[in-house]
Amino acid sequence: GAINMLGLAKRRKAKIFQASTSEVYGDPTIHPQVEEYWGNVNPIGIRSCYDEGKRCAETLFFDYHRQHKLQIKVARIFNTYGPRMHPNDGRVVSNFIMQALRGEPITLYGEGLQTRSFCYVDDLVEGFIRLMATGDEVTGPINLGNPGEFTIKALAEMVVAQTGSASKITYQPLPSDDPKQRQPDISKARALLDDWQPTIALEQGLARTIVYFDGLLKSGLA
Ligand code: UDP
Repeated sequence: GAINMLGLAKRRKAKIFQASTSEVYGDPTIHPQVEEYWGNVNPIGIRSCYDEGKRCAETLFFDYHRQHKLQIKVARIFNTYGPRMHPNDGRVVSNFIMQALRGEPITLYGEGLQTRSFCYVDDLVEGFIRLMATGDEVTGPINLGNPGEFTIKALAEMVVAQTGSASKITYQPLPSDDPKQRQPDISKARALLDDWQPTIALEQGLARTIVYFDGLLKSGLA
């Protein structure tokens, strides 16, 4: 997909954006993650096709930039959530909210001590818009995410509290290669994107997301 789009951008002389990911850092050994960090990715694990696929796509973007002077904008997106997520996409925010609203057990993988930093969708989109408006010299890769870091257990407790649910937490096995910690260093984004930083705290964004999923359930759409 990436190489086809790069070919198209080259022919049309278009600026091209890559939605890359914090997964390029794998299970990171430095914290928070800066763009200069090369990552710690298992090349043959169950997550590898995604992680290595995105890493390969970044390589291709930079090869096209060097070889064909293509204008590229590479964003490394950290965990993002918000209204219009798919209720069954299997990710933690949608899982926990749907489980809490249905009164089902909350499925916490491992001990829930692994961390993630959750960015509200509108903040992320604002970052994209600012990145696309930068001069040609700004290629990225540039971290976009909310530096507010939470354990998954804290997220589960927050969702239960905000929904007023009677759901209880059940512990399930941690999938292999699940990163233990993740937090973006957004210094680069702040410096290059007109002091961009997230404005919606997790509590606030979760409340809006709960309203959305509740609406889906009440209208029979989930
Ligand atoms: N997770 C969990 N219960 C779920 C879904 C996910 O405890 O029902 C955990 C998962 O093991 C991971 C974290 O929540 O540690 C974030 O998972 P997600 O798939 O949303 O994002 P990613 O792992 O890609 O950051």
